[in-house]
Amino acid sequence: MGNKEAKRRIVLVPVPAQGHVTPMMQLGKALYSNGFSITVVEGHFNQASSSSQHFPGFQFVTIKESLPESEYEKLGPLEFGMKLNRTSEASFKDFIAQLLLQQGNDIACIIYDEFMYFSAAAAKEFNLPSVIFSTTSATNYASRRVLSELNADKFLVDMEDPEMQDQVVESLYPLRYKDLAISGMGPLEQVLEVCRKVANKRSASAVIINTVSCLESSSLSCLDTSVKIGIPMYSIGPLHMTPSPPSSLLEEDRSCIEWLNKQKPRSVIYISLGSIYEMVTKELLEMAWGLCDSNQPFLWVIRHGSESLPEEVSTMVSEREGYIVKWAPQIKVLGHPAVGGFWSHSGWNSILESIAEGVPMICRPFHGEQKLNAMYIESVWRIGFQVEGSKVDRGEVERAVKRLMVDEEGAGMQERALVLKEKLKASVKSGGTSYNAFDELVKYLKTK
Ligand code: UDP
Repeated sequence: MGNKEAKRRIVLVPVPAQGHVTPMMQLGKALYSNGFSITVVEGHFNQASSSSQHFPGFQFVTIKESLPESEYEKLGPLEFGMKLNRTSEASFKDFIAQLLLQQGNDIACIIYDEFMYFSAAAAKEFNLPSVIFSTTSATNYASRRVLSELNADKFLVDMEDPEMQDQVVESLYPLRYKDLAISGMGPLEQVLEVCRKVANKRSASAVIINTVSCLESSSLSCLDTSVKIGIPMYSIGPLHMTPSPPSSLLEEDRSCIEWLNKQKPRSVIYISLGSIYEMVTKELLEMAWGLCDSNQPFLWVIRHGSESLPEEVSTMVSEREGYIVKWAPQIKVLGHPAVGGFWSHSGWNSILESIAEGVPMICRPFHGEQKLNAMYIESVWRIGFQVEGSKVDRGEVERAVKRLMVDEEGAGMQERALVLKEKLKASVKSGGTSYNAFDELVKYLKTK
């Protein structure tokens, strides 16, 4: 690999959150294997470099003016994201200037998470190519473009009309206005402002999306035709199906695999609500009772651990075939023959990981983008269903688990999930759509 191409560097700028760091590192690994040098630029928390031992040869750099985790807790995701973009722009430019001065640092491209749009200013200043990376679905990407054009006041009035809520967004069939990713995210004006910033392509010359065309062909063609993205798009997902080392920010408890080994095939329901959402005690209790009453064995991720459950409930959980971990090796869990269903918050990575293993889902989405994903699971792919309502009691938990794991309806969802699994497998194999798209992306980056 002594040729010039092998030394070309790609600078990656991930969002400091598990659901964004993981696909960015998978992308980095795939590009590294194709002869690029990789630099990962990060802030002060949720650092991808915590798994640097799995990425030998990668360079990790911390931006000085990035914000601490306490700011995230104080401001919440939207305001934090906007402030992070304001504070990081200058120091990122300084870093790129230094990198360009260093011998041999021939920068092919800056690939930035769509939410790290501050990166575009440095690309423009130093006349470097930049590419946007969307770690969520193409539907969500397209939906943000539609949202970016809305007027908040008018939209709020329009949405008071139930007919309008159910109306299909013309350019985004089958998405209805009520599915657009806005609820639970914060004040609408602020949500739309973020959408406008994220939808702005600036000087980016391409978009990479962690999706696969067999799952989202209609949204991808909308992006091409009605939403008119206007630059090349590469649908190269699911990235976790390409060989890459773990990039978990938390320690995985592998003891659950031994526990799964003792369970019957497809009998276990796995419950995880992702890396951000935490259940309050009342919800934990209703969930625990509902799971126990369902009489299905269950593996449950509670990031605070079983300590957050009252003792009597912990005892009941262990007596009733339940196993609790703080953080699971999720991809391995979903691929385990004992797992037959996934109770999920419908984060995009979790969905791709579940479909890739043919595991049907119960969706309990909490905010806009997850609701949109859950709508696809229930109504488009029909491989699961949503549990709706602001509160879910033990009876609803029990009924949902039985519906997926025991009823005939659940068996149909499982069958369809297995069909999609095969399609995903084919798409990442030589000649498949994602395989070919990645190949084209590499060729494209080599011309930069
Ligand atoms: N994850 C994991 N172990 C767990 C729970 C989650 O490794 O116990 C991983 C999961 O495999 C996925 C990511 O965390 O890759 C969560 O991303 P997702 O987009 O589903 O949700 P987010 O955390 O961004 O809300």
